[in-house]
Amino acid sequence: MSKVIGIDLGTSNSVIAVVENGEPIVITNAEGDRTTPSVVSFHNNEYLVGKFAKNQRIMNSKGTISSVKRKMGKREQIDLLGNKHFPEEISAKILQKLKRDAEAYLGMPITKAVITVPAYFDNDQREATKKSGEIAGLEVIRIINEPTAAVLAYGLNKKSNGLILVYDFGGGTFDTSILEVSDGVFEVKSTSGDTYLGGDDLDNAVYDFLIQQEPLNTLNIDNQIKSRLMEAVEKAKIELSSTNTTTINLPFISTNENGPIHFEYTLTRPKFEEIIMPFVMKTKKSVDQALQDANLSTNDIDEVVLVGGSTRIPLVQQKVKEWLGKEPCRGVNPDEVVALGAAIQASILTGDTTDIVLLDVTPLTLSVETLGGRATPMINRNATIPCSVTEIFTTAKDMQTSVEIHIVQGERAMASDNKSLGRFMLEGIPPAPARLPQIEVTFDIDANGILSVSAKDKGTGKEQKITITGSSTLTDDEVAKMIEDAKKYEEEDRKKKEEVERKLKIESTVYSAQRLSLIHISEPTRLLSISYAVFCLK
Ligand code: ADP
Ligand code: MG
Repeated sequence: MSKVIGIDLGTSNSVIAVVENGEPIVITNAEGDRTTPSVVSFHNNEYLVGKFAKNQRIMNSKGTISSVKRKMGKREQIDLLGNKHFPEEISAKILQKLKRDAEAYLGMPITKAVITVPAYFDNDQREATKKSGEIAGLEVIRIINEPTAAVLAYGLNKKSNGLILVYDFGGGTFDTSILEVSDGVFEVKSTSGDTYLGGDDLDNAVYDFLIQQEPLNTLNIDNQIKSRLMEAVEKAKIELSSTNTTTINLPFISTNENGPIHFEYTLTRPKFEEIIMPFVMKTKKSVDQALQDANLSTNDIDEVVLVGGSTRIPLVQQKVKEWLGKEPCRGVNPDEVVALGAAIQASILTGDTTDIVLLDVTPLTLSVETLGGRATPMINRNATIPCSVTEIFTTAKDMQTSVEIHIVQGERAMASDNKSLGRFMLEGIPPAPARLPQIEVTFDIDANGILSVSAKDKGTGKEQKITITGSSTLTDDEVAKMIEDAKKYEEEDRKKKEEVERKLKIESTVYSAQRLSLIHISEPTRLLSISYAVFCLK
Protein backbone atom coordinates (compact mmCIF):
# COMPACT_ATOMS: atom_id res chain seq x y z
CA MET A 1 0.00 0.00 0.00
CA SER A 2 1.19 3.48 -0.81
CA LYS A 3 2.25 5.59 2.15
CA VAL A 4 0.78 8.88 3.28
CA ILE A 5 3.45 11.32 4.42
CA GLY A 6 3.23 14.03 7.06
CA ILE A 7 4.58 17.45 6.11
CA ASP A 8 5.44 20.39 8.34
CA LEU A 9 5.43 23.17 5.75
CA GLY A 10 7.21 25.72 7.92
CA THR A 11 7.86 29.43 7.47
CA SER A 12 11.62 28.85 7.65
CA ASN A 13 12.04 25.09 7.41
CA SER A 14 9.97 22.16 6.23
CA VAL A 15 10.16 18.60 7.47
CA ILE A 16 8.76 15.33 6.06
CA ALA A 17 7.93 12.30 8.16
CA VAL A 18 6.25 8.94 7.77
CA VAL A 19 5.12 6.13 10.05
CA GLU A 20 7.16 3.00 9.46
CA ASN A 21 6.53 -0.16 11.47
CA GLY A 22 4.32 1.82 13.82
CA GLU A 23 6.94 4.49 14.53
CA PRO A 24 7.03 7.99 13.06
CA ILE A 25 10.40 8.82 11.51
CA VAL A 26 11.86 11.88 9.82
CA ILE A 27 12.78 11.43 6.16
CA THR A 28 16.15 12.91 5.26
CA ASN A 29 16.15 15.02 2.11
CA ALA A 30 18.34 14.70 -0.98
CA GLU A 31 21.05 16.78 0.70
CA GLY A 32 21.07 14.38 3.65
CA ASP A 33 19.43 16.89 6.01
CA ARG A 34 16.43 16.33 8.24
CA THR A 35 15.02 19.81 7.64
CA THR A 36 14.70 21.66 4.34
CA PRO A 37 14.78 25.48 4.27
CA SER A 38 11.43 26.73 2.87
CA VAL A 39 13.25 28.91 0.37
CA VAL A 40 12.89 29.03 -3.44
CA SER A 41 15.36 30.76 -5.70
CA PHE A 42 15.45 31.36 -9.42
CA HIS A 43 19.07 31.10 -10.45
CA ASN A 44 20.71 30.43 -13.85
CA ASN A 45 17.31 29.74 -15.39
CA GLU A 46 16.31 27.10 -12.90
CA TYR A 47 14.48 26.90 -9.60
CA LEU A 48 16.42 25.90 -6.53
CA VAL A 49 14.63 24.77 -3.38
CA GLY A 50 15.99 24.34 0.12
CA LYS A 51 19.56 24.78 1.25
CA PHE A 52 20.89 25.90 -2.13
CA ALA A 53 18.13 28.46 -2.46
CA LYS A 54 18.79 29.74 1.06
CA ASN A 55 22.44 30.31 0.12
CA GLN A 56 21.19 32.67 -2.59
CA ARG A 57 19.04 34.81 -0.35
CA ILE A 58 21.44 37.73 -0.02
CA MET A 59 23.51 37.59 -3.22
CA ASN A 60 20.45 36.94 -5.37
CA SER A 61 17.81 38.58 -3.22
CA LYS A 62 15.60 39.56 -6.16
CA GLY A 63 15.47 35.97 -7.36
CA THR A 64 14.91 34.41 -3.94
CA ILE A 65 11.80 34.09 -1.80
CA SER A 66 11.73 32.94 1.80
CA SER A 67 8.88 32.93 4.35
CA VAL A 68 6.30 32.55 1.56
CA LYS A 69 4.03 31.00 4.18
CA ARG A 70 3.26 34.51 5.41
CA LYS A 71 1.78 35.31 2.00
CA MET A 72 -0.37 32.19 1.71
CA GLY A 73 -3.99 32.99 0.93
CA LYS A 74 -3.14 36.44 -0.42
CA ARG A 75 -3.79 37.38 -4.03
CA GLU A 76 -0.42 39.06 -4.43
CA GLN A 77 2.20 37.77 -6.84
CA ILE A 78 5.83 37.15 -6.15
CA ASP A 79 8.34 38.29 -8.74
CA LEU A 80 11.47 36.17 -9.06
CA LEU A 81 13.62 37.99 -11.62
CA GLY A 82 10.62 38.63 -13.84
CA ASN A 83 8.89 35.29 -13.23
CA LYS A 84 5.60 35.93 -11.45
CA HIS A 85 4.10 33.37 -9.10
CA PHE A 86 1.24 33.19 -6.64
CA PRO A 87 2.27 32.13 -3.12
CA GLU A 88 0.60 28.73 -3.69
CA GLU A 89 2.94 28.05 -6.60
CA ILE A 90 6.02 28.85 -4.56
CA SER A 91 4.83 26.59 -1.74
CA ALA A 92 4.11 23.95 -4.37
CA LYS A 93 7.75 24.08 -5.45
CA ILE A 94 8.80 23.35 -1.89
CA LEU A 95 6.23 20.53 -1.62
CA GLN A 96 7.39 19.10 -4.94
CA LYS A 97 10.91 18.80 -3.63
CA LEU A 98 9.71 17.23 -0.38
CA LYS A 99 7.57 14.78 -2.34
CA ARG A 100 10.48 13.88 -4.61
CA ASP A 101 12.85 13.40 -1.68
CA ALA A 102 10.30 11.25 0.15
CA GLU A 103 9.79 9.11 -2.96
CA ALA A 104 13.55 8.61 -3.30
CA TYR A 105 13.83 7.68 0.37
CA LEU A 106 10.86 5.34 0.48
CA GLY A 107 11.33 3.95 -3.01
CA MET A 108 7.69 4.36 -3.98
CA PRO A 109 5.46 7.06 -5.47
CA ILE A 110 3.81 9.35 -2.93
CA THR A 111 0.46 10.91 -3.80
CA LYS A 112 -1.10 11.76 -0.46
CA ALA A 113 -0.09 13.91 2.48
CA VAL A 114 -1.22 15.46 5.72
CA ILE A 115 0.05 19.04 5.95
CA THR A 116 0.20 21.14 9.09
CA VAL A 117 -0.69 24.83 9.41
CA PRO A 118 -0.64 27.27 12.35
CA ALA A 119 -3.79 27.07 14.46
CA TYR A 120 -4.65 30.68 13.56
CA PHE A 121 -4.64 30.07 9.78
CA ASP A 122 -7.96 31.18 8.29
CA ASN A 123 -9.96 29.64 5.44
CA ASP A 124 -8.00 31.21 2.65
CA GLN A 125 -4.69 30.22 4.13
CA ARG A 126 -5.85 26.62 4.61
CA GLU A 127 -7.35 26.49 1.11
CA ALA A 128 -4.15 27.92 -0.34
CA THR A 129 -2.13 25.27 1.48
CA LYS A 130 -4.36 22.53 0.04
CA LYS A 131 -4.02 24.05 -3.40
CA SER A 132 -0.22 24.06 -3.11
CA GLY A 133 -0.41 20.35 -2.46
CA GLU A 134 -2.58 19.83 -5.53
CA ILE A 135 -0.17 21.79 -7.71
CA ALA A 136 2.66 19.63 -6.39
CA GLY A 137 0.71 16.48 -7.21
CA LEU A 138 -0.24 15.70 -3.64
CA GLU A 139 -3.74 15.05 -2.45
CA VAL A 140 -3.91 16.77 0.93
CA ILE A 141 -6.07 14.34 2.85
CA ARG A 142 -6.11 16.54 5.93
CA ILE A 143 -4.83 19.87 7.13
CA ILE A 144 -4.06 19.82 10.85
CA ASN A 145 -2.91 22.44 13.31
CA GLU A 146 0.77 22.46 14.19
CA PRO A 147 0.31 22.42 17.99
CA THR A 148 -2.11 19.52 17.66
CA ALA A 149 0.51 17.62 15.67
CA ALA A 150 3.13 18.34 18.33
CA VAL A 151 0.91 16.94 21.07
CA LEU A 152 0.23 13.85 18.95
CA ALA A 153 3.96 13.31 18.47
CA TYR A 154 4.46 13.33 22.23
CA GLY A 155 1.60 10.87 22.61
CA LEU A 156 0.31 13.09 25.40
CA ASN A 157 -3.25 12.27 24.42
CA LYS A 158 -2.66 8.68 25.47
CA LYS A 159 -0.77 9.34 28.65
CA SER A 160 -2.90 11.84 30.43
CA ASN A 161 -5.96 13.99 30.61
CA GLY A 162 -5.24 17.65 31.09
CA LEU A 163 -4.11 20.94 29.66
CA ILE A 164 -1.07 21.27 27.46
CA LEU A 165 0.66 24.49 26.51
CA VAL A 166 2.54 24.36 23.21
CA TYR A 167 5.25 27.01 22.92
CA ASP A 168 6.40 27.23 19.27
CA PHE A 169 9.38 29.51 18.61
CA GLY A 170 10.50 28.95 15.01
CA GLY A 171 12.53 30.87 12.46
CA GLY A 172 10.12 33.67 11.63
CA THR A 173 7.09 33.16 13.83
CA PHE A 174 6.07 32.58 17.40
CA ASP A 175 2.88 30.84 18.58
CA THR A 176 1.41 29.69 21.85
CA SER A 177 -1.48 27.25 21.87
CA ILE A 178 -3.32 25.65 24.74
CA LEU A 179 -4.85 22.24 24.15
CA GLU A 180 -7.08 20.16 26.33
CA VAL A 181 -6.87 16.40 26.24
CA SER A 182 -9.52 14.14 27.65
CA ASP A 183 -9.91 10.45 26.96
CA GLY A 184 -7.96 10.52 23.74
CA VAL A 185 -9.88 13.50 22.38
CA PHE A 186 -8.16 16.83 22.25
CA GLU A 187 -9.22 20.31 21.65
CA VAL A 188 -7.37 23.61 21.06
CA LYS A 189 -8.60 26.03 23.75
CA SER A 190 -6.78 29.13 22.56
CA THR A 191 -3.97 30.37 20.38
CA SER A 192 -1.89 33.53 20.42
CA GLY A 193 1.29 34.62 18.69
CA ASP A 194 3.40 36.96 16.63
CA THR A 195 3.98 36.32 12.90
CA TYR A 196 7.08 38.48 12.95
CA LEU A 197 9.08 37.06 15.82
CA GLY A 198 11.52 34.20 15.47
CA GLY A 199 15.07 32.97 15.12
CA ASP A 200 15.63 35.41 12.23
CA ASP A 201 15.25 38.29 14.67
CA LEU A 202 17.90 36.75 16.89
CA ASP A 203 20.23 36.40 13.90
CA ASN A 204 19.63 40.01 12.88
CA ALA A 205 20.28 41.26 16.41
CA VAL A 206 23.58 39.38 16.58
CA TYR A 207 24.46 40.64 13.10
CA ASP A 208 23.72 44.24 14.15
CA PHE A 209 25.96 43.75 17.16
CA LEU A 210 28.83 42.26 15.13
CA ILE A 211 28.96 44.97 12.48
CA GLN A 212 29.70 47.44 15.26
CA GLN A 213 32.85 45.49 16.17
CA GLU A 214 36.38 46.08 14.83
CA PRO A 215 37.20 45.91 11.93
CA LEU A 216 33.66 45.47 10.53
CA ASN A 217 32.66 48.92 11.79
CA THR A 218 35.17 50.46 9.39
CA LEU A 219 34.02 48.49 6.32
CA ASN A 220 31.42 49.12 3.71
CA ILE A 221 29.22 46.05 4.24
CA ASP A 222 28.32 44.81 0.78
CA ASN A 223 26.07 41.86 0.03
CA GLN A 224 28.95 39.46 -0.15
CA ILE A 225 30.12 40.36 3.35
CA LYS A 226 26.57 40.33 4.63
CA SER A 227 25.93 36.92 3.13
CA ARG A 228 29.00 35.37 4.76
CA LEU A 229 28.28 37.10 8.05
CA MET A 230 24.64 36.01 8.21
CA GLU A 231 25.59 32.43 7.56
CA ALA A 232 28.25 32.59 10.29
CA VAL A 233 25.82 34.24 12.72
CA GLU A 234 23.22 31.48 12.45
CA LYS A 235 25.93 28.86 12.84
CA ALA A 236 27.29 30.62 15.94
CA LYS A 237 23.80 30.91 17.42
CA ILE A 238 23.20 27.19 16.93
CA GLU A 239 26.58 26.35 18.45
CA LEU A 240 25.85 28.45 21.52
CA SER A 241 22.90 26.18 22.29
CA SER A 242 25.42 23.52 23.26
CA THR A 243 28.64 25.42 24.03
CA ASN A 244 29.54 28.43 26.18
CA THR A 245 31.60 30.30 23.62
CA THR A 246 31.92 30.25 19.87
CA THR A 247 34.33 31.94 17.51
CA ILE A 248 33.09 33.64 14.40
CA ASN A 249 35.97 33.44 12.00
CA LEU A 250 35.73 35.10 8.59
CA PRO A 251 39.15 35.36 6.93
CA PHE A 252 39.56 37.62 3.89
CA ILE A 253 36.28 39.38 4.59
CA SER A 254 37.60 42.40 2.68
CA THR A 255 40.79 44.12 1.58
CA ASN A 256 42.30 47.58 1.90
CA GLU A 257 45.59 49.24 0.90
CA ASN A 258 47.42 47.24 3.61
CA GLY A 259 46.18 43.91 2.33
CA PRO A 260 43.44 41.45 3.31
CA ILE A 261 41.17 42.05 6.29
CA HIS A 262 40.08 39.20 8.53
CA PHE A 263 37.30 39.14 11.06
CA GLU A 264 37.40 37.08 14.20
CA TYR A 265 35.13 37.46 17.20
CA THR A 266 34.54 35.24 20.19
CA LEU A 267 30.93 35.40 21.25
CA THR A 268 30.10 34.14 24.72
CA ARG A 269 26.77 32.71 25.74
CA PRO A 270 26.14 35.48 28.33
CA LYS A 271 26.75 38.17 25.67
CA PHE A 272 24.50 36.29 23.22
CA GLU A 273 21.79 36.00 25.87
CA GLU A 274 22.01 39.70 26.58
CA ILE A 275 21.51 40.44 22.86
CA ILE A 276 18.49 38.15 22.44
CA MET A 277 16.80 38.77 25.79
CA PRO A 278 14.32 41.41 24.51
CA PHE A 279 13.02 38.95 21.88
CA VAL A 280 12.68 36.13 24.33
CA MET A 281 10.77 38.39 26.71
CA LYS A 282 8.41 39.36 23.89
CA THR A 283 7.20 35.76 23.68
CA LYS A 284 5.89 35.98 27.24
CA LYS A 285 3.17 38.38 26.12
CA SER A 286 1.67 35.75 23.83
CA VAL A 287 1.92 33.08 26.48
CA ASP A 288 -0.01 35.29 28.89
CA GLN A 289 -2.58 36.14 26.21
CA ALA A 290 -3.19 32.47 25.39
CA LEU A 291 -3.67 31.68 29.08
CA GLN A 292 -6.02 34.61 29.49
CA ASP A 293 -8.06 33.66 26.40
CA ALA A 294 -8.49 30.14 27.70
CA ASN A 295 -9.36 31.52 31.13
CA LEU A 296 -6.48 29.69 32.73
CA SER A 297 -3.55 30.43 34.97
CA THR A 298 -0.10 28.85 34.80
CA ASN A 299 -1.04 26.47 37.61
CA ASP A 300 -3.70 24.89 35.42
CA ILE A 301 -1.18 23.78 32.80
CA ASP A 302 -0.24 20.11 33.14
CA GLU A 303 2.33 19.78 30.36
CA VAL A 304 4.50 22.15 28.35
CA VAL A 305 5.63 21.18 24.85
CA LEU A 306 8.45 23.03 23.10
CA VAL A 307 8.26 23.32 19.32
CA GLY A 308 10.52 25.13 16.84
CA GLY A 309 14.28 25.32 16.38
CA SER A 310 14.61 28.42 18.56
CA THR A 311 13.47 26.47 21.63
CA ARG A 312 16.81 24.66 21.50
CA ILE A 313 18.31 27.82 23.01
CA PRO A 314 18.98 27.19 26.73
CA LEU A 315 17.81 30.71 27.69
CA VAL A 316 14.45 30.08 26.02
CA GLN A 317 14.01 26.76 27.81
CA GLN A 318 14.98 28.33 31.11
CA LYS A 319 12.52 31.21 30.71
CA VAL A 320 9.62 28.99 29.68
CA LYS A 321 10.27 26.78 32.67
CA GLU A 322 10.41 29.85 34.92
CA TRP A 323 7.18 31.36 33.53
CA LEU A 324 5.17 28.18 33.66
CA GLY A 325 6.80 26.64 36.72
CA LYS A 326 7.20 23.36 34.90
CA GLU A 327 9.89 21.34 33.18
CA PRO A 328 8.95 21.10 29.46
CA CYS A 329 8.53 17.68 27.82
CA ARG A 330 11.71 16.33 26.32
CA GLY A 331 12.66 13.56 23.97
CA VAL A 332 11.46 14.75 20.57
CA ASN A 333 13.47 17.27 18.54
CA PRO A 334 11.52 20.54 18.62
CA ASP A 335 12.04 21.23 14.92
CA GLU A 336 10.82 17.75 13.93
CA VAL A 337 7.94 17.23 16.33
CA VAL A 338 5.26 18.80 14.09
CA ALA A 339 6.13 16.66 11.06
CA LEU A 340 6.18 13.53 13.22
CA GLY A 341 2.70 14.40 14.49
CA ALA A 342 1.51 14.94 10.92
CA ALA A 343 2.80 11.48 10.03
CA ILE A 344 0.90 10.03 12.99
CA GLN A 345 -2.25 11.82 11.81
CA ALA A 346 -1.69 10.36 8.34
CA SER A 347 -1.53 6.89 9.80
CA ILE A 348 -4.71 7.54 11.79
CA LEU A 349 -6.50 8.53 8.60
CA THR A 350 -5.28 5.51 6.70
CA GLY A 351 -6.52 3.32 9.52
CA ASP A 352 -3.14 2.29 10.86
CA THR A 353 -3.75 4.07 14.15
CA THR A 354 -7.29 4.21 15.50
CA ASP A 355 -7.25 5.47 19.04
CA ILE A 356 -7.32 9.23 18.55
CA VAL A 357 -9.91 11.81 17.60
CA LEU A 358 -8.87 15.33 16.69
CA LEU A 359 -10.59 18.58 17.43
CA ASP A 360 -9.42 22.08 16.67
CA VAL A 361 -10.80 25.57 17.14
CA THR A 362 -11.66 28.71 15.17
CA PRO A 363 -9.37 31.68 15.88
CA LEU A 364 -12.06 34.40 15.67
CA THR A 365 -15.83 34.68 15.96
CA LEU A 366 -17.76 34.17 12.73
CA SER A 367 -20.90 36.25 12.44
CA VAL A 368 -23.59 37.27 10.04
CA GLU A 369 -24.60 40.90 9.64
CA THR A 370 -28.01 41.53 11.11
CA LEU A 371 -30.54 44.30 11.12
CA GLY A 372 -29.00 47.63 12.04
CA GLY A 373 -25.53 46.56 10.97
CA ARG A 374 -24.79 44.37 13.93
CA ALA A 375 -22.58 41.30 13.85
CA THR A 376 -24.57 38.37 15.19
CA PRO A 377 -22.27 35.50 16.16
CA MET A 378 -22.93 32.13 14.55
CA ILE A 379 -19.72 30.40 15.61
CA ASN A 380 -17.79 31.74 18.58
CA ARG A 381 -14.08 32.32 18.71
CA ASN A 382 -12.19 29.22 19.89
CA ALA A 383 -15.21 27.01 19.08
CA THR A 384 -14.25 23.41 18.42
CA ILE A 385 -14.17 22.36 14.78
CA PRO A 386 -15.49 20.65 12.72
CA CYS A 387 -18.79 22.27 13.59
CA SER A 388 -22.03 23.33 12.05
CA VAL A 389 -24.52 25.89 13.30
CA THR A 390 -27.95 26.56 11.84
CA GLU A 391 -30.20 29.42 12.82
CA ILE A 392 -33.50 30.59 11.41
CA PHE A 393 -33.92 34.15 10.22
CA THR A 394 -36.74 36.02 8.60
CA THR A 395 -37.38 39.15 6.61
CA ALA A 396 -37.95 42.50 8.29
CA LYS A 397 -39.82 44.26 5.53
CA ASP A 398 -43.12 43.41 3.94
CA MET A 399 -42.83 41.93 0.44
CA GLN A 400 -39.09 41.51 0.81
CA THR A 401 -38.01 39.02 -1.84
CA SER A 402 -34.30 38.83 -1.21
CA VAL A 403 -31.87 38.84 1.66
CA GLU A 404 -28.18 39.43 1.68
CA ILE A 405 -26.03 37.18 3.79
CA HIS A 406 -22.90 39.05 4.81
CA ILE A 407 -20.32 36.99 6.70
CA VAL A 408 -17.84 38.72 8.96
CA GLN A 409 -15.01 37.58 11.19
CA GLY A 410 -13.94 39.32 14.38
CA GLU A 411 -14.85 40.25 17.92
CA ARG A 412 -16.48 43.66 17.39
CA ALA A 413 -20.19 44.24 17.92
CA MET A 414 -20.83 46.00 14.62
CA ALA A 415 -20.34 44.14 11.36
CA SER A 416 -18.49 47.01 9.69
CA ASP A 417 -15.80 46.95 12.39
CA ASN A 418 -15.04 43.31 11.62
CA LYS A 419 -13.38 41.68 8.64
CA SER A 420 -15.72 40.93 5.76
CA LEU A 421 -15.29 37.35 4.54
CA GLY A 422 -17.91 37.32 1.84
CA ARG A 423 -21.52 38.02 0.97
CA PHE A 424 -24.22 36.63 -1.22
CA MET A 425 -27.88 37.18 -2.00
CA LEU A 426 -30.68 34.72 -1.56
CA GLU A 427 -33.29 35.77 -4.06
CA GLY A 428 -36.72 34.62 -5.09
CA ILE A 429 -38.36 34.59 -1.71
CA PRO A 430 -42.12 34.77 -2.45
CA PRO A 431 -43.50 38.17 -1.43
CA ALA A 432 -44.93 37.91 2.05
CA PRO A 433 -45.49 40.02 5.11
CA ALA A 434 -42.39 40.73 7.14
CA ARG A 435 -41.23 37.95 9.42
CA LEU A 436 -43.19 35.27 7.70
CA PRO A 437 -40.51 33.68 5.50
CA GLN A 438 -38.15 31.37 7.32
CA ILE A 439 -34.57 31.52 6.18
CA GLU A 440 -32.26 28.87 7.44
CA VAL A 441 -28.65 30.03 7.63
CA THR A 442 -25.95 27.42 8.20
CA PHE A 443 -22.28 28.00 9.00
CA ASP A 444 -20.28 24.87 8.52
CA ILE A 445 -16.57 24.51 9.27
CA ASP A 446 -15.07 21.24 8.09
CA ALA A 447 -12.24 19.31 9.69
CA ASN A 448 -9.73 21.35 7.66
CA GLY A 449 -11.14 24.58 9.06
CA ILE A 450 -12.75 25.65 5.79
CA LEU A 451 -15.99 27.60 6.15
CA SER A 452 -19.10 27.15 3.99
CA VAL A 453 -22.19 29.26 4.51
CA SER A 454 -25.59 28.44 3.11
CA ALA A 455 -28.96 30.15 3.24
CA LYS A 456 -32.21 28.35 2.47
CA ASP A 457 -35.70 29.69 2.14
CA LYS A 458 -37.70 27.01 3.92
CA GLY A 459 -40.83 27.92 2.01
CA THR A 460 -39.48 27.29 -1.48
CA GLY A 461 -36.44 25.16 -0.66
CA LYS A 462 -34.34 27.61 -2.63
CA GLU A 463 -30.73 27.60 -1.46
CA GLN A 464 -27.57 29.60 -1.96
CA LYS A 465 -24.16 28.64 -0.69
CA ILE A 466 -20.59 29.87 -0.63
CA THR A 467 -17.29 28.52 0.48
CA ILE A 468 -15.29 31.35 1.85
CA THR A 469 -12.33 32.24 -0.33
CA GLY A 470 -11.04 35.53 -1.73
CA SER A 471 -10.00 38.68 -0.03
CA SER A 472 -9.96 37.45 3.51
CA THR A 473 -6.56 36.72 4.88
CA LEU A 474 -5.58 37.44 8.43
CA THR A 475 -2.19 37.13 9.98
CA ASP A 476 -2.06 36.32 13.64
CA ASP A 477 -0.89 39.88 14.19
CA GLU A 478 -4.18 40.99 12.71
CA VAL A 479 -6.03 38.43 14.78
CA ALA A 480 -4.26 39.78 17.86
CA LYS A 481 -5.07 43.34 16.82
CA MET A 482 -8.73 42.51 16.24
CA ILE A 483 -8.99 40.97 19.68
CA GLU A 484 -7.21 43.96 21.18
CA ASP A 485 -9.49 46.39 19.34
CA ALA A 486 -12.55 44.51 20.51
CA LYS A 487 -11.40 45.03 24.07
CA LYS A 488 -10.49 48.65 23.48
CA TYR A 489 -13.82 49.52 21.87
CA GLU A 490 -15.95 47.29 24.06
CA GLU A 491 -17.73 50.15 25.78
CA GLU A 492 -18.26 52.15 22.60
CA ASP A 493 -19.47 49.08 20.71
CA ARG A 494 -21.87 48.17 23.48
CA LYS A 495 -23.42 51.64 23.28
CA LYS A 496 -23.76 51.46 19.49
CA LYS A 497 -25.37 48.05 19.75
CA GLU A 498 -27.76 49.15 22.47
CA GLU A 499 -28.76 52.16 20.42
CA VAL A 500 -29.53 49.96 17.42
CA GLU A 501 -31.41 47.52 19.61
CA ARG A 502 -33.41 50.31 21.21
CA LYS A 503 -34.46 51.58 17.80
CA LEU A 504 -35.27 48.12 16.56
CA LYS A 505 -37.30 47.37 19.64
CA ILE A 506 -39.57 50.28 18.88
CA GLU A 507 -39.99 49.10 15.29
CA SER A 508 -40.43 45.53 16.35
CA THR A 509 -43.22 46.36 18.81
CA VAL A 510 -44.94 48.15 16.00
CA TYR A 511 -44.60 45.10 13.77
CA SER A 512 -45.73 42.73 16.48
CA ALA A 513 -48.69 44.85 17.34
CA GLN A 514 -49.77 45.05 13.73
CA ARG A 515 -49.24 41.46 12.73
CA LEU A 516 -49.46 39.44 15.86
CA SER A 517 -51.64 36.79 14.31
CA LEU A 518 -49.25 36.27 11.40
CA ILE A 519 -45.99 35.89 13.18
CA HIS A 520 -45.18 32.57 14.63
CA ILE A 521 -42.26 33.52 16.81
CA SER A 522 -42.11 32.43 20.39
CA GLU A 523 -38.92 34.21 21.30
CA PRO A 524 -37.47 36.64 18.79
CA THR A 525 -34.27 36.95 20.79
CA ARG A 526 -31.90 38.11 18.11
CA LEU A 527 -32.42 40.26 15.10
CA LEU A 528 -30.57 38.83 12.26
CA SER A 529 -29.98 40.15 8.83
CA ILE A 530 -28.90 41.18 6.05
CA SER A 531 -29.09 44.46 4.34
CA TYR A 532 -32.86 44.47 4.45
CA ALA A 533 -33.16 42.95 7.87
CA VAL A 534 -34.30 39.72 9.25
CA PHE A 535 -35.20 38.11 12.51
CA CYS A 536 -33.61 35.21 14.21
CA LEU A 537 -36.37 32.91 15.35
CA LYS A 538 -34.31 31.03 17.86
P1 ADP B 1 9.82 27.18 11.30
O1 ADP B 1 8.89 26.24 11.98
O2 ADP B 1 9.60 28.59 11.69
O3 ADP B 1 9.85 26.99 9.84
P2 ADP B 1 12.03 25.86 12.71
O4 ADP B 1 11.20 25.33 13.80
O5 ADP B 1 12.76 24.88 11.87
O6 ADP B 1 11.29 26.86 11.75
O7 ADP B 1 13.07 26.87 13.38
C1 ADP B 1 14.05 27.49 12.63
C2 ADP B 1 14.84 28.40 13.52
O8 ADP B 1 15.47 27.65 14.55
C3 ADP B 1 15.94 29.11 12.75
O9 ADP B 1 15.98 30.48 13.14
C4 ADP B 1 17.20 28.38 13.23
O10 ADP B 1 18.34 29.21 13.19
C5 ADP B 1 16.82 28.04 14.65
N1 ADP B 1 17.58 26.93 15.20
C6 ADP B 1 17.70 25.68 14.72
N2 ADP B 1 18.49 24.94 15.52
C7 ADP B 1 18.88 25.75 16.53
C8 ADP B 1 19.71 25.58 17.68
N3 ADP B 1 20.32 24.43 17.94
N4 ADP B 1 19.87 26.64 18.51
C9 ADP B 1 19.27 27.82 18.26
N5 ADP B 1 18.48 28.04 17.20
C10 ADP B 1 18.29 27.02 16.35
MG1 MG C 1 7.30 25.41 12.71
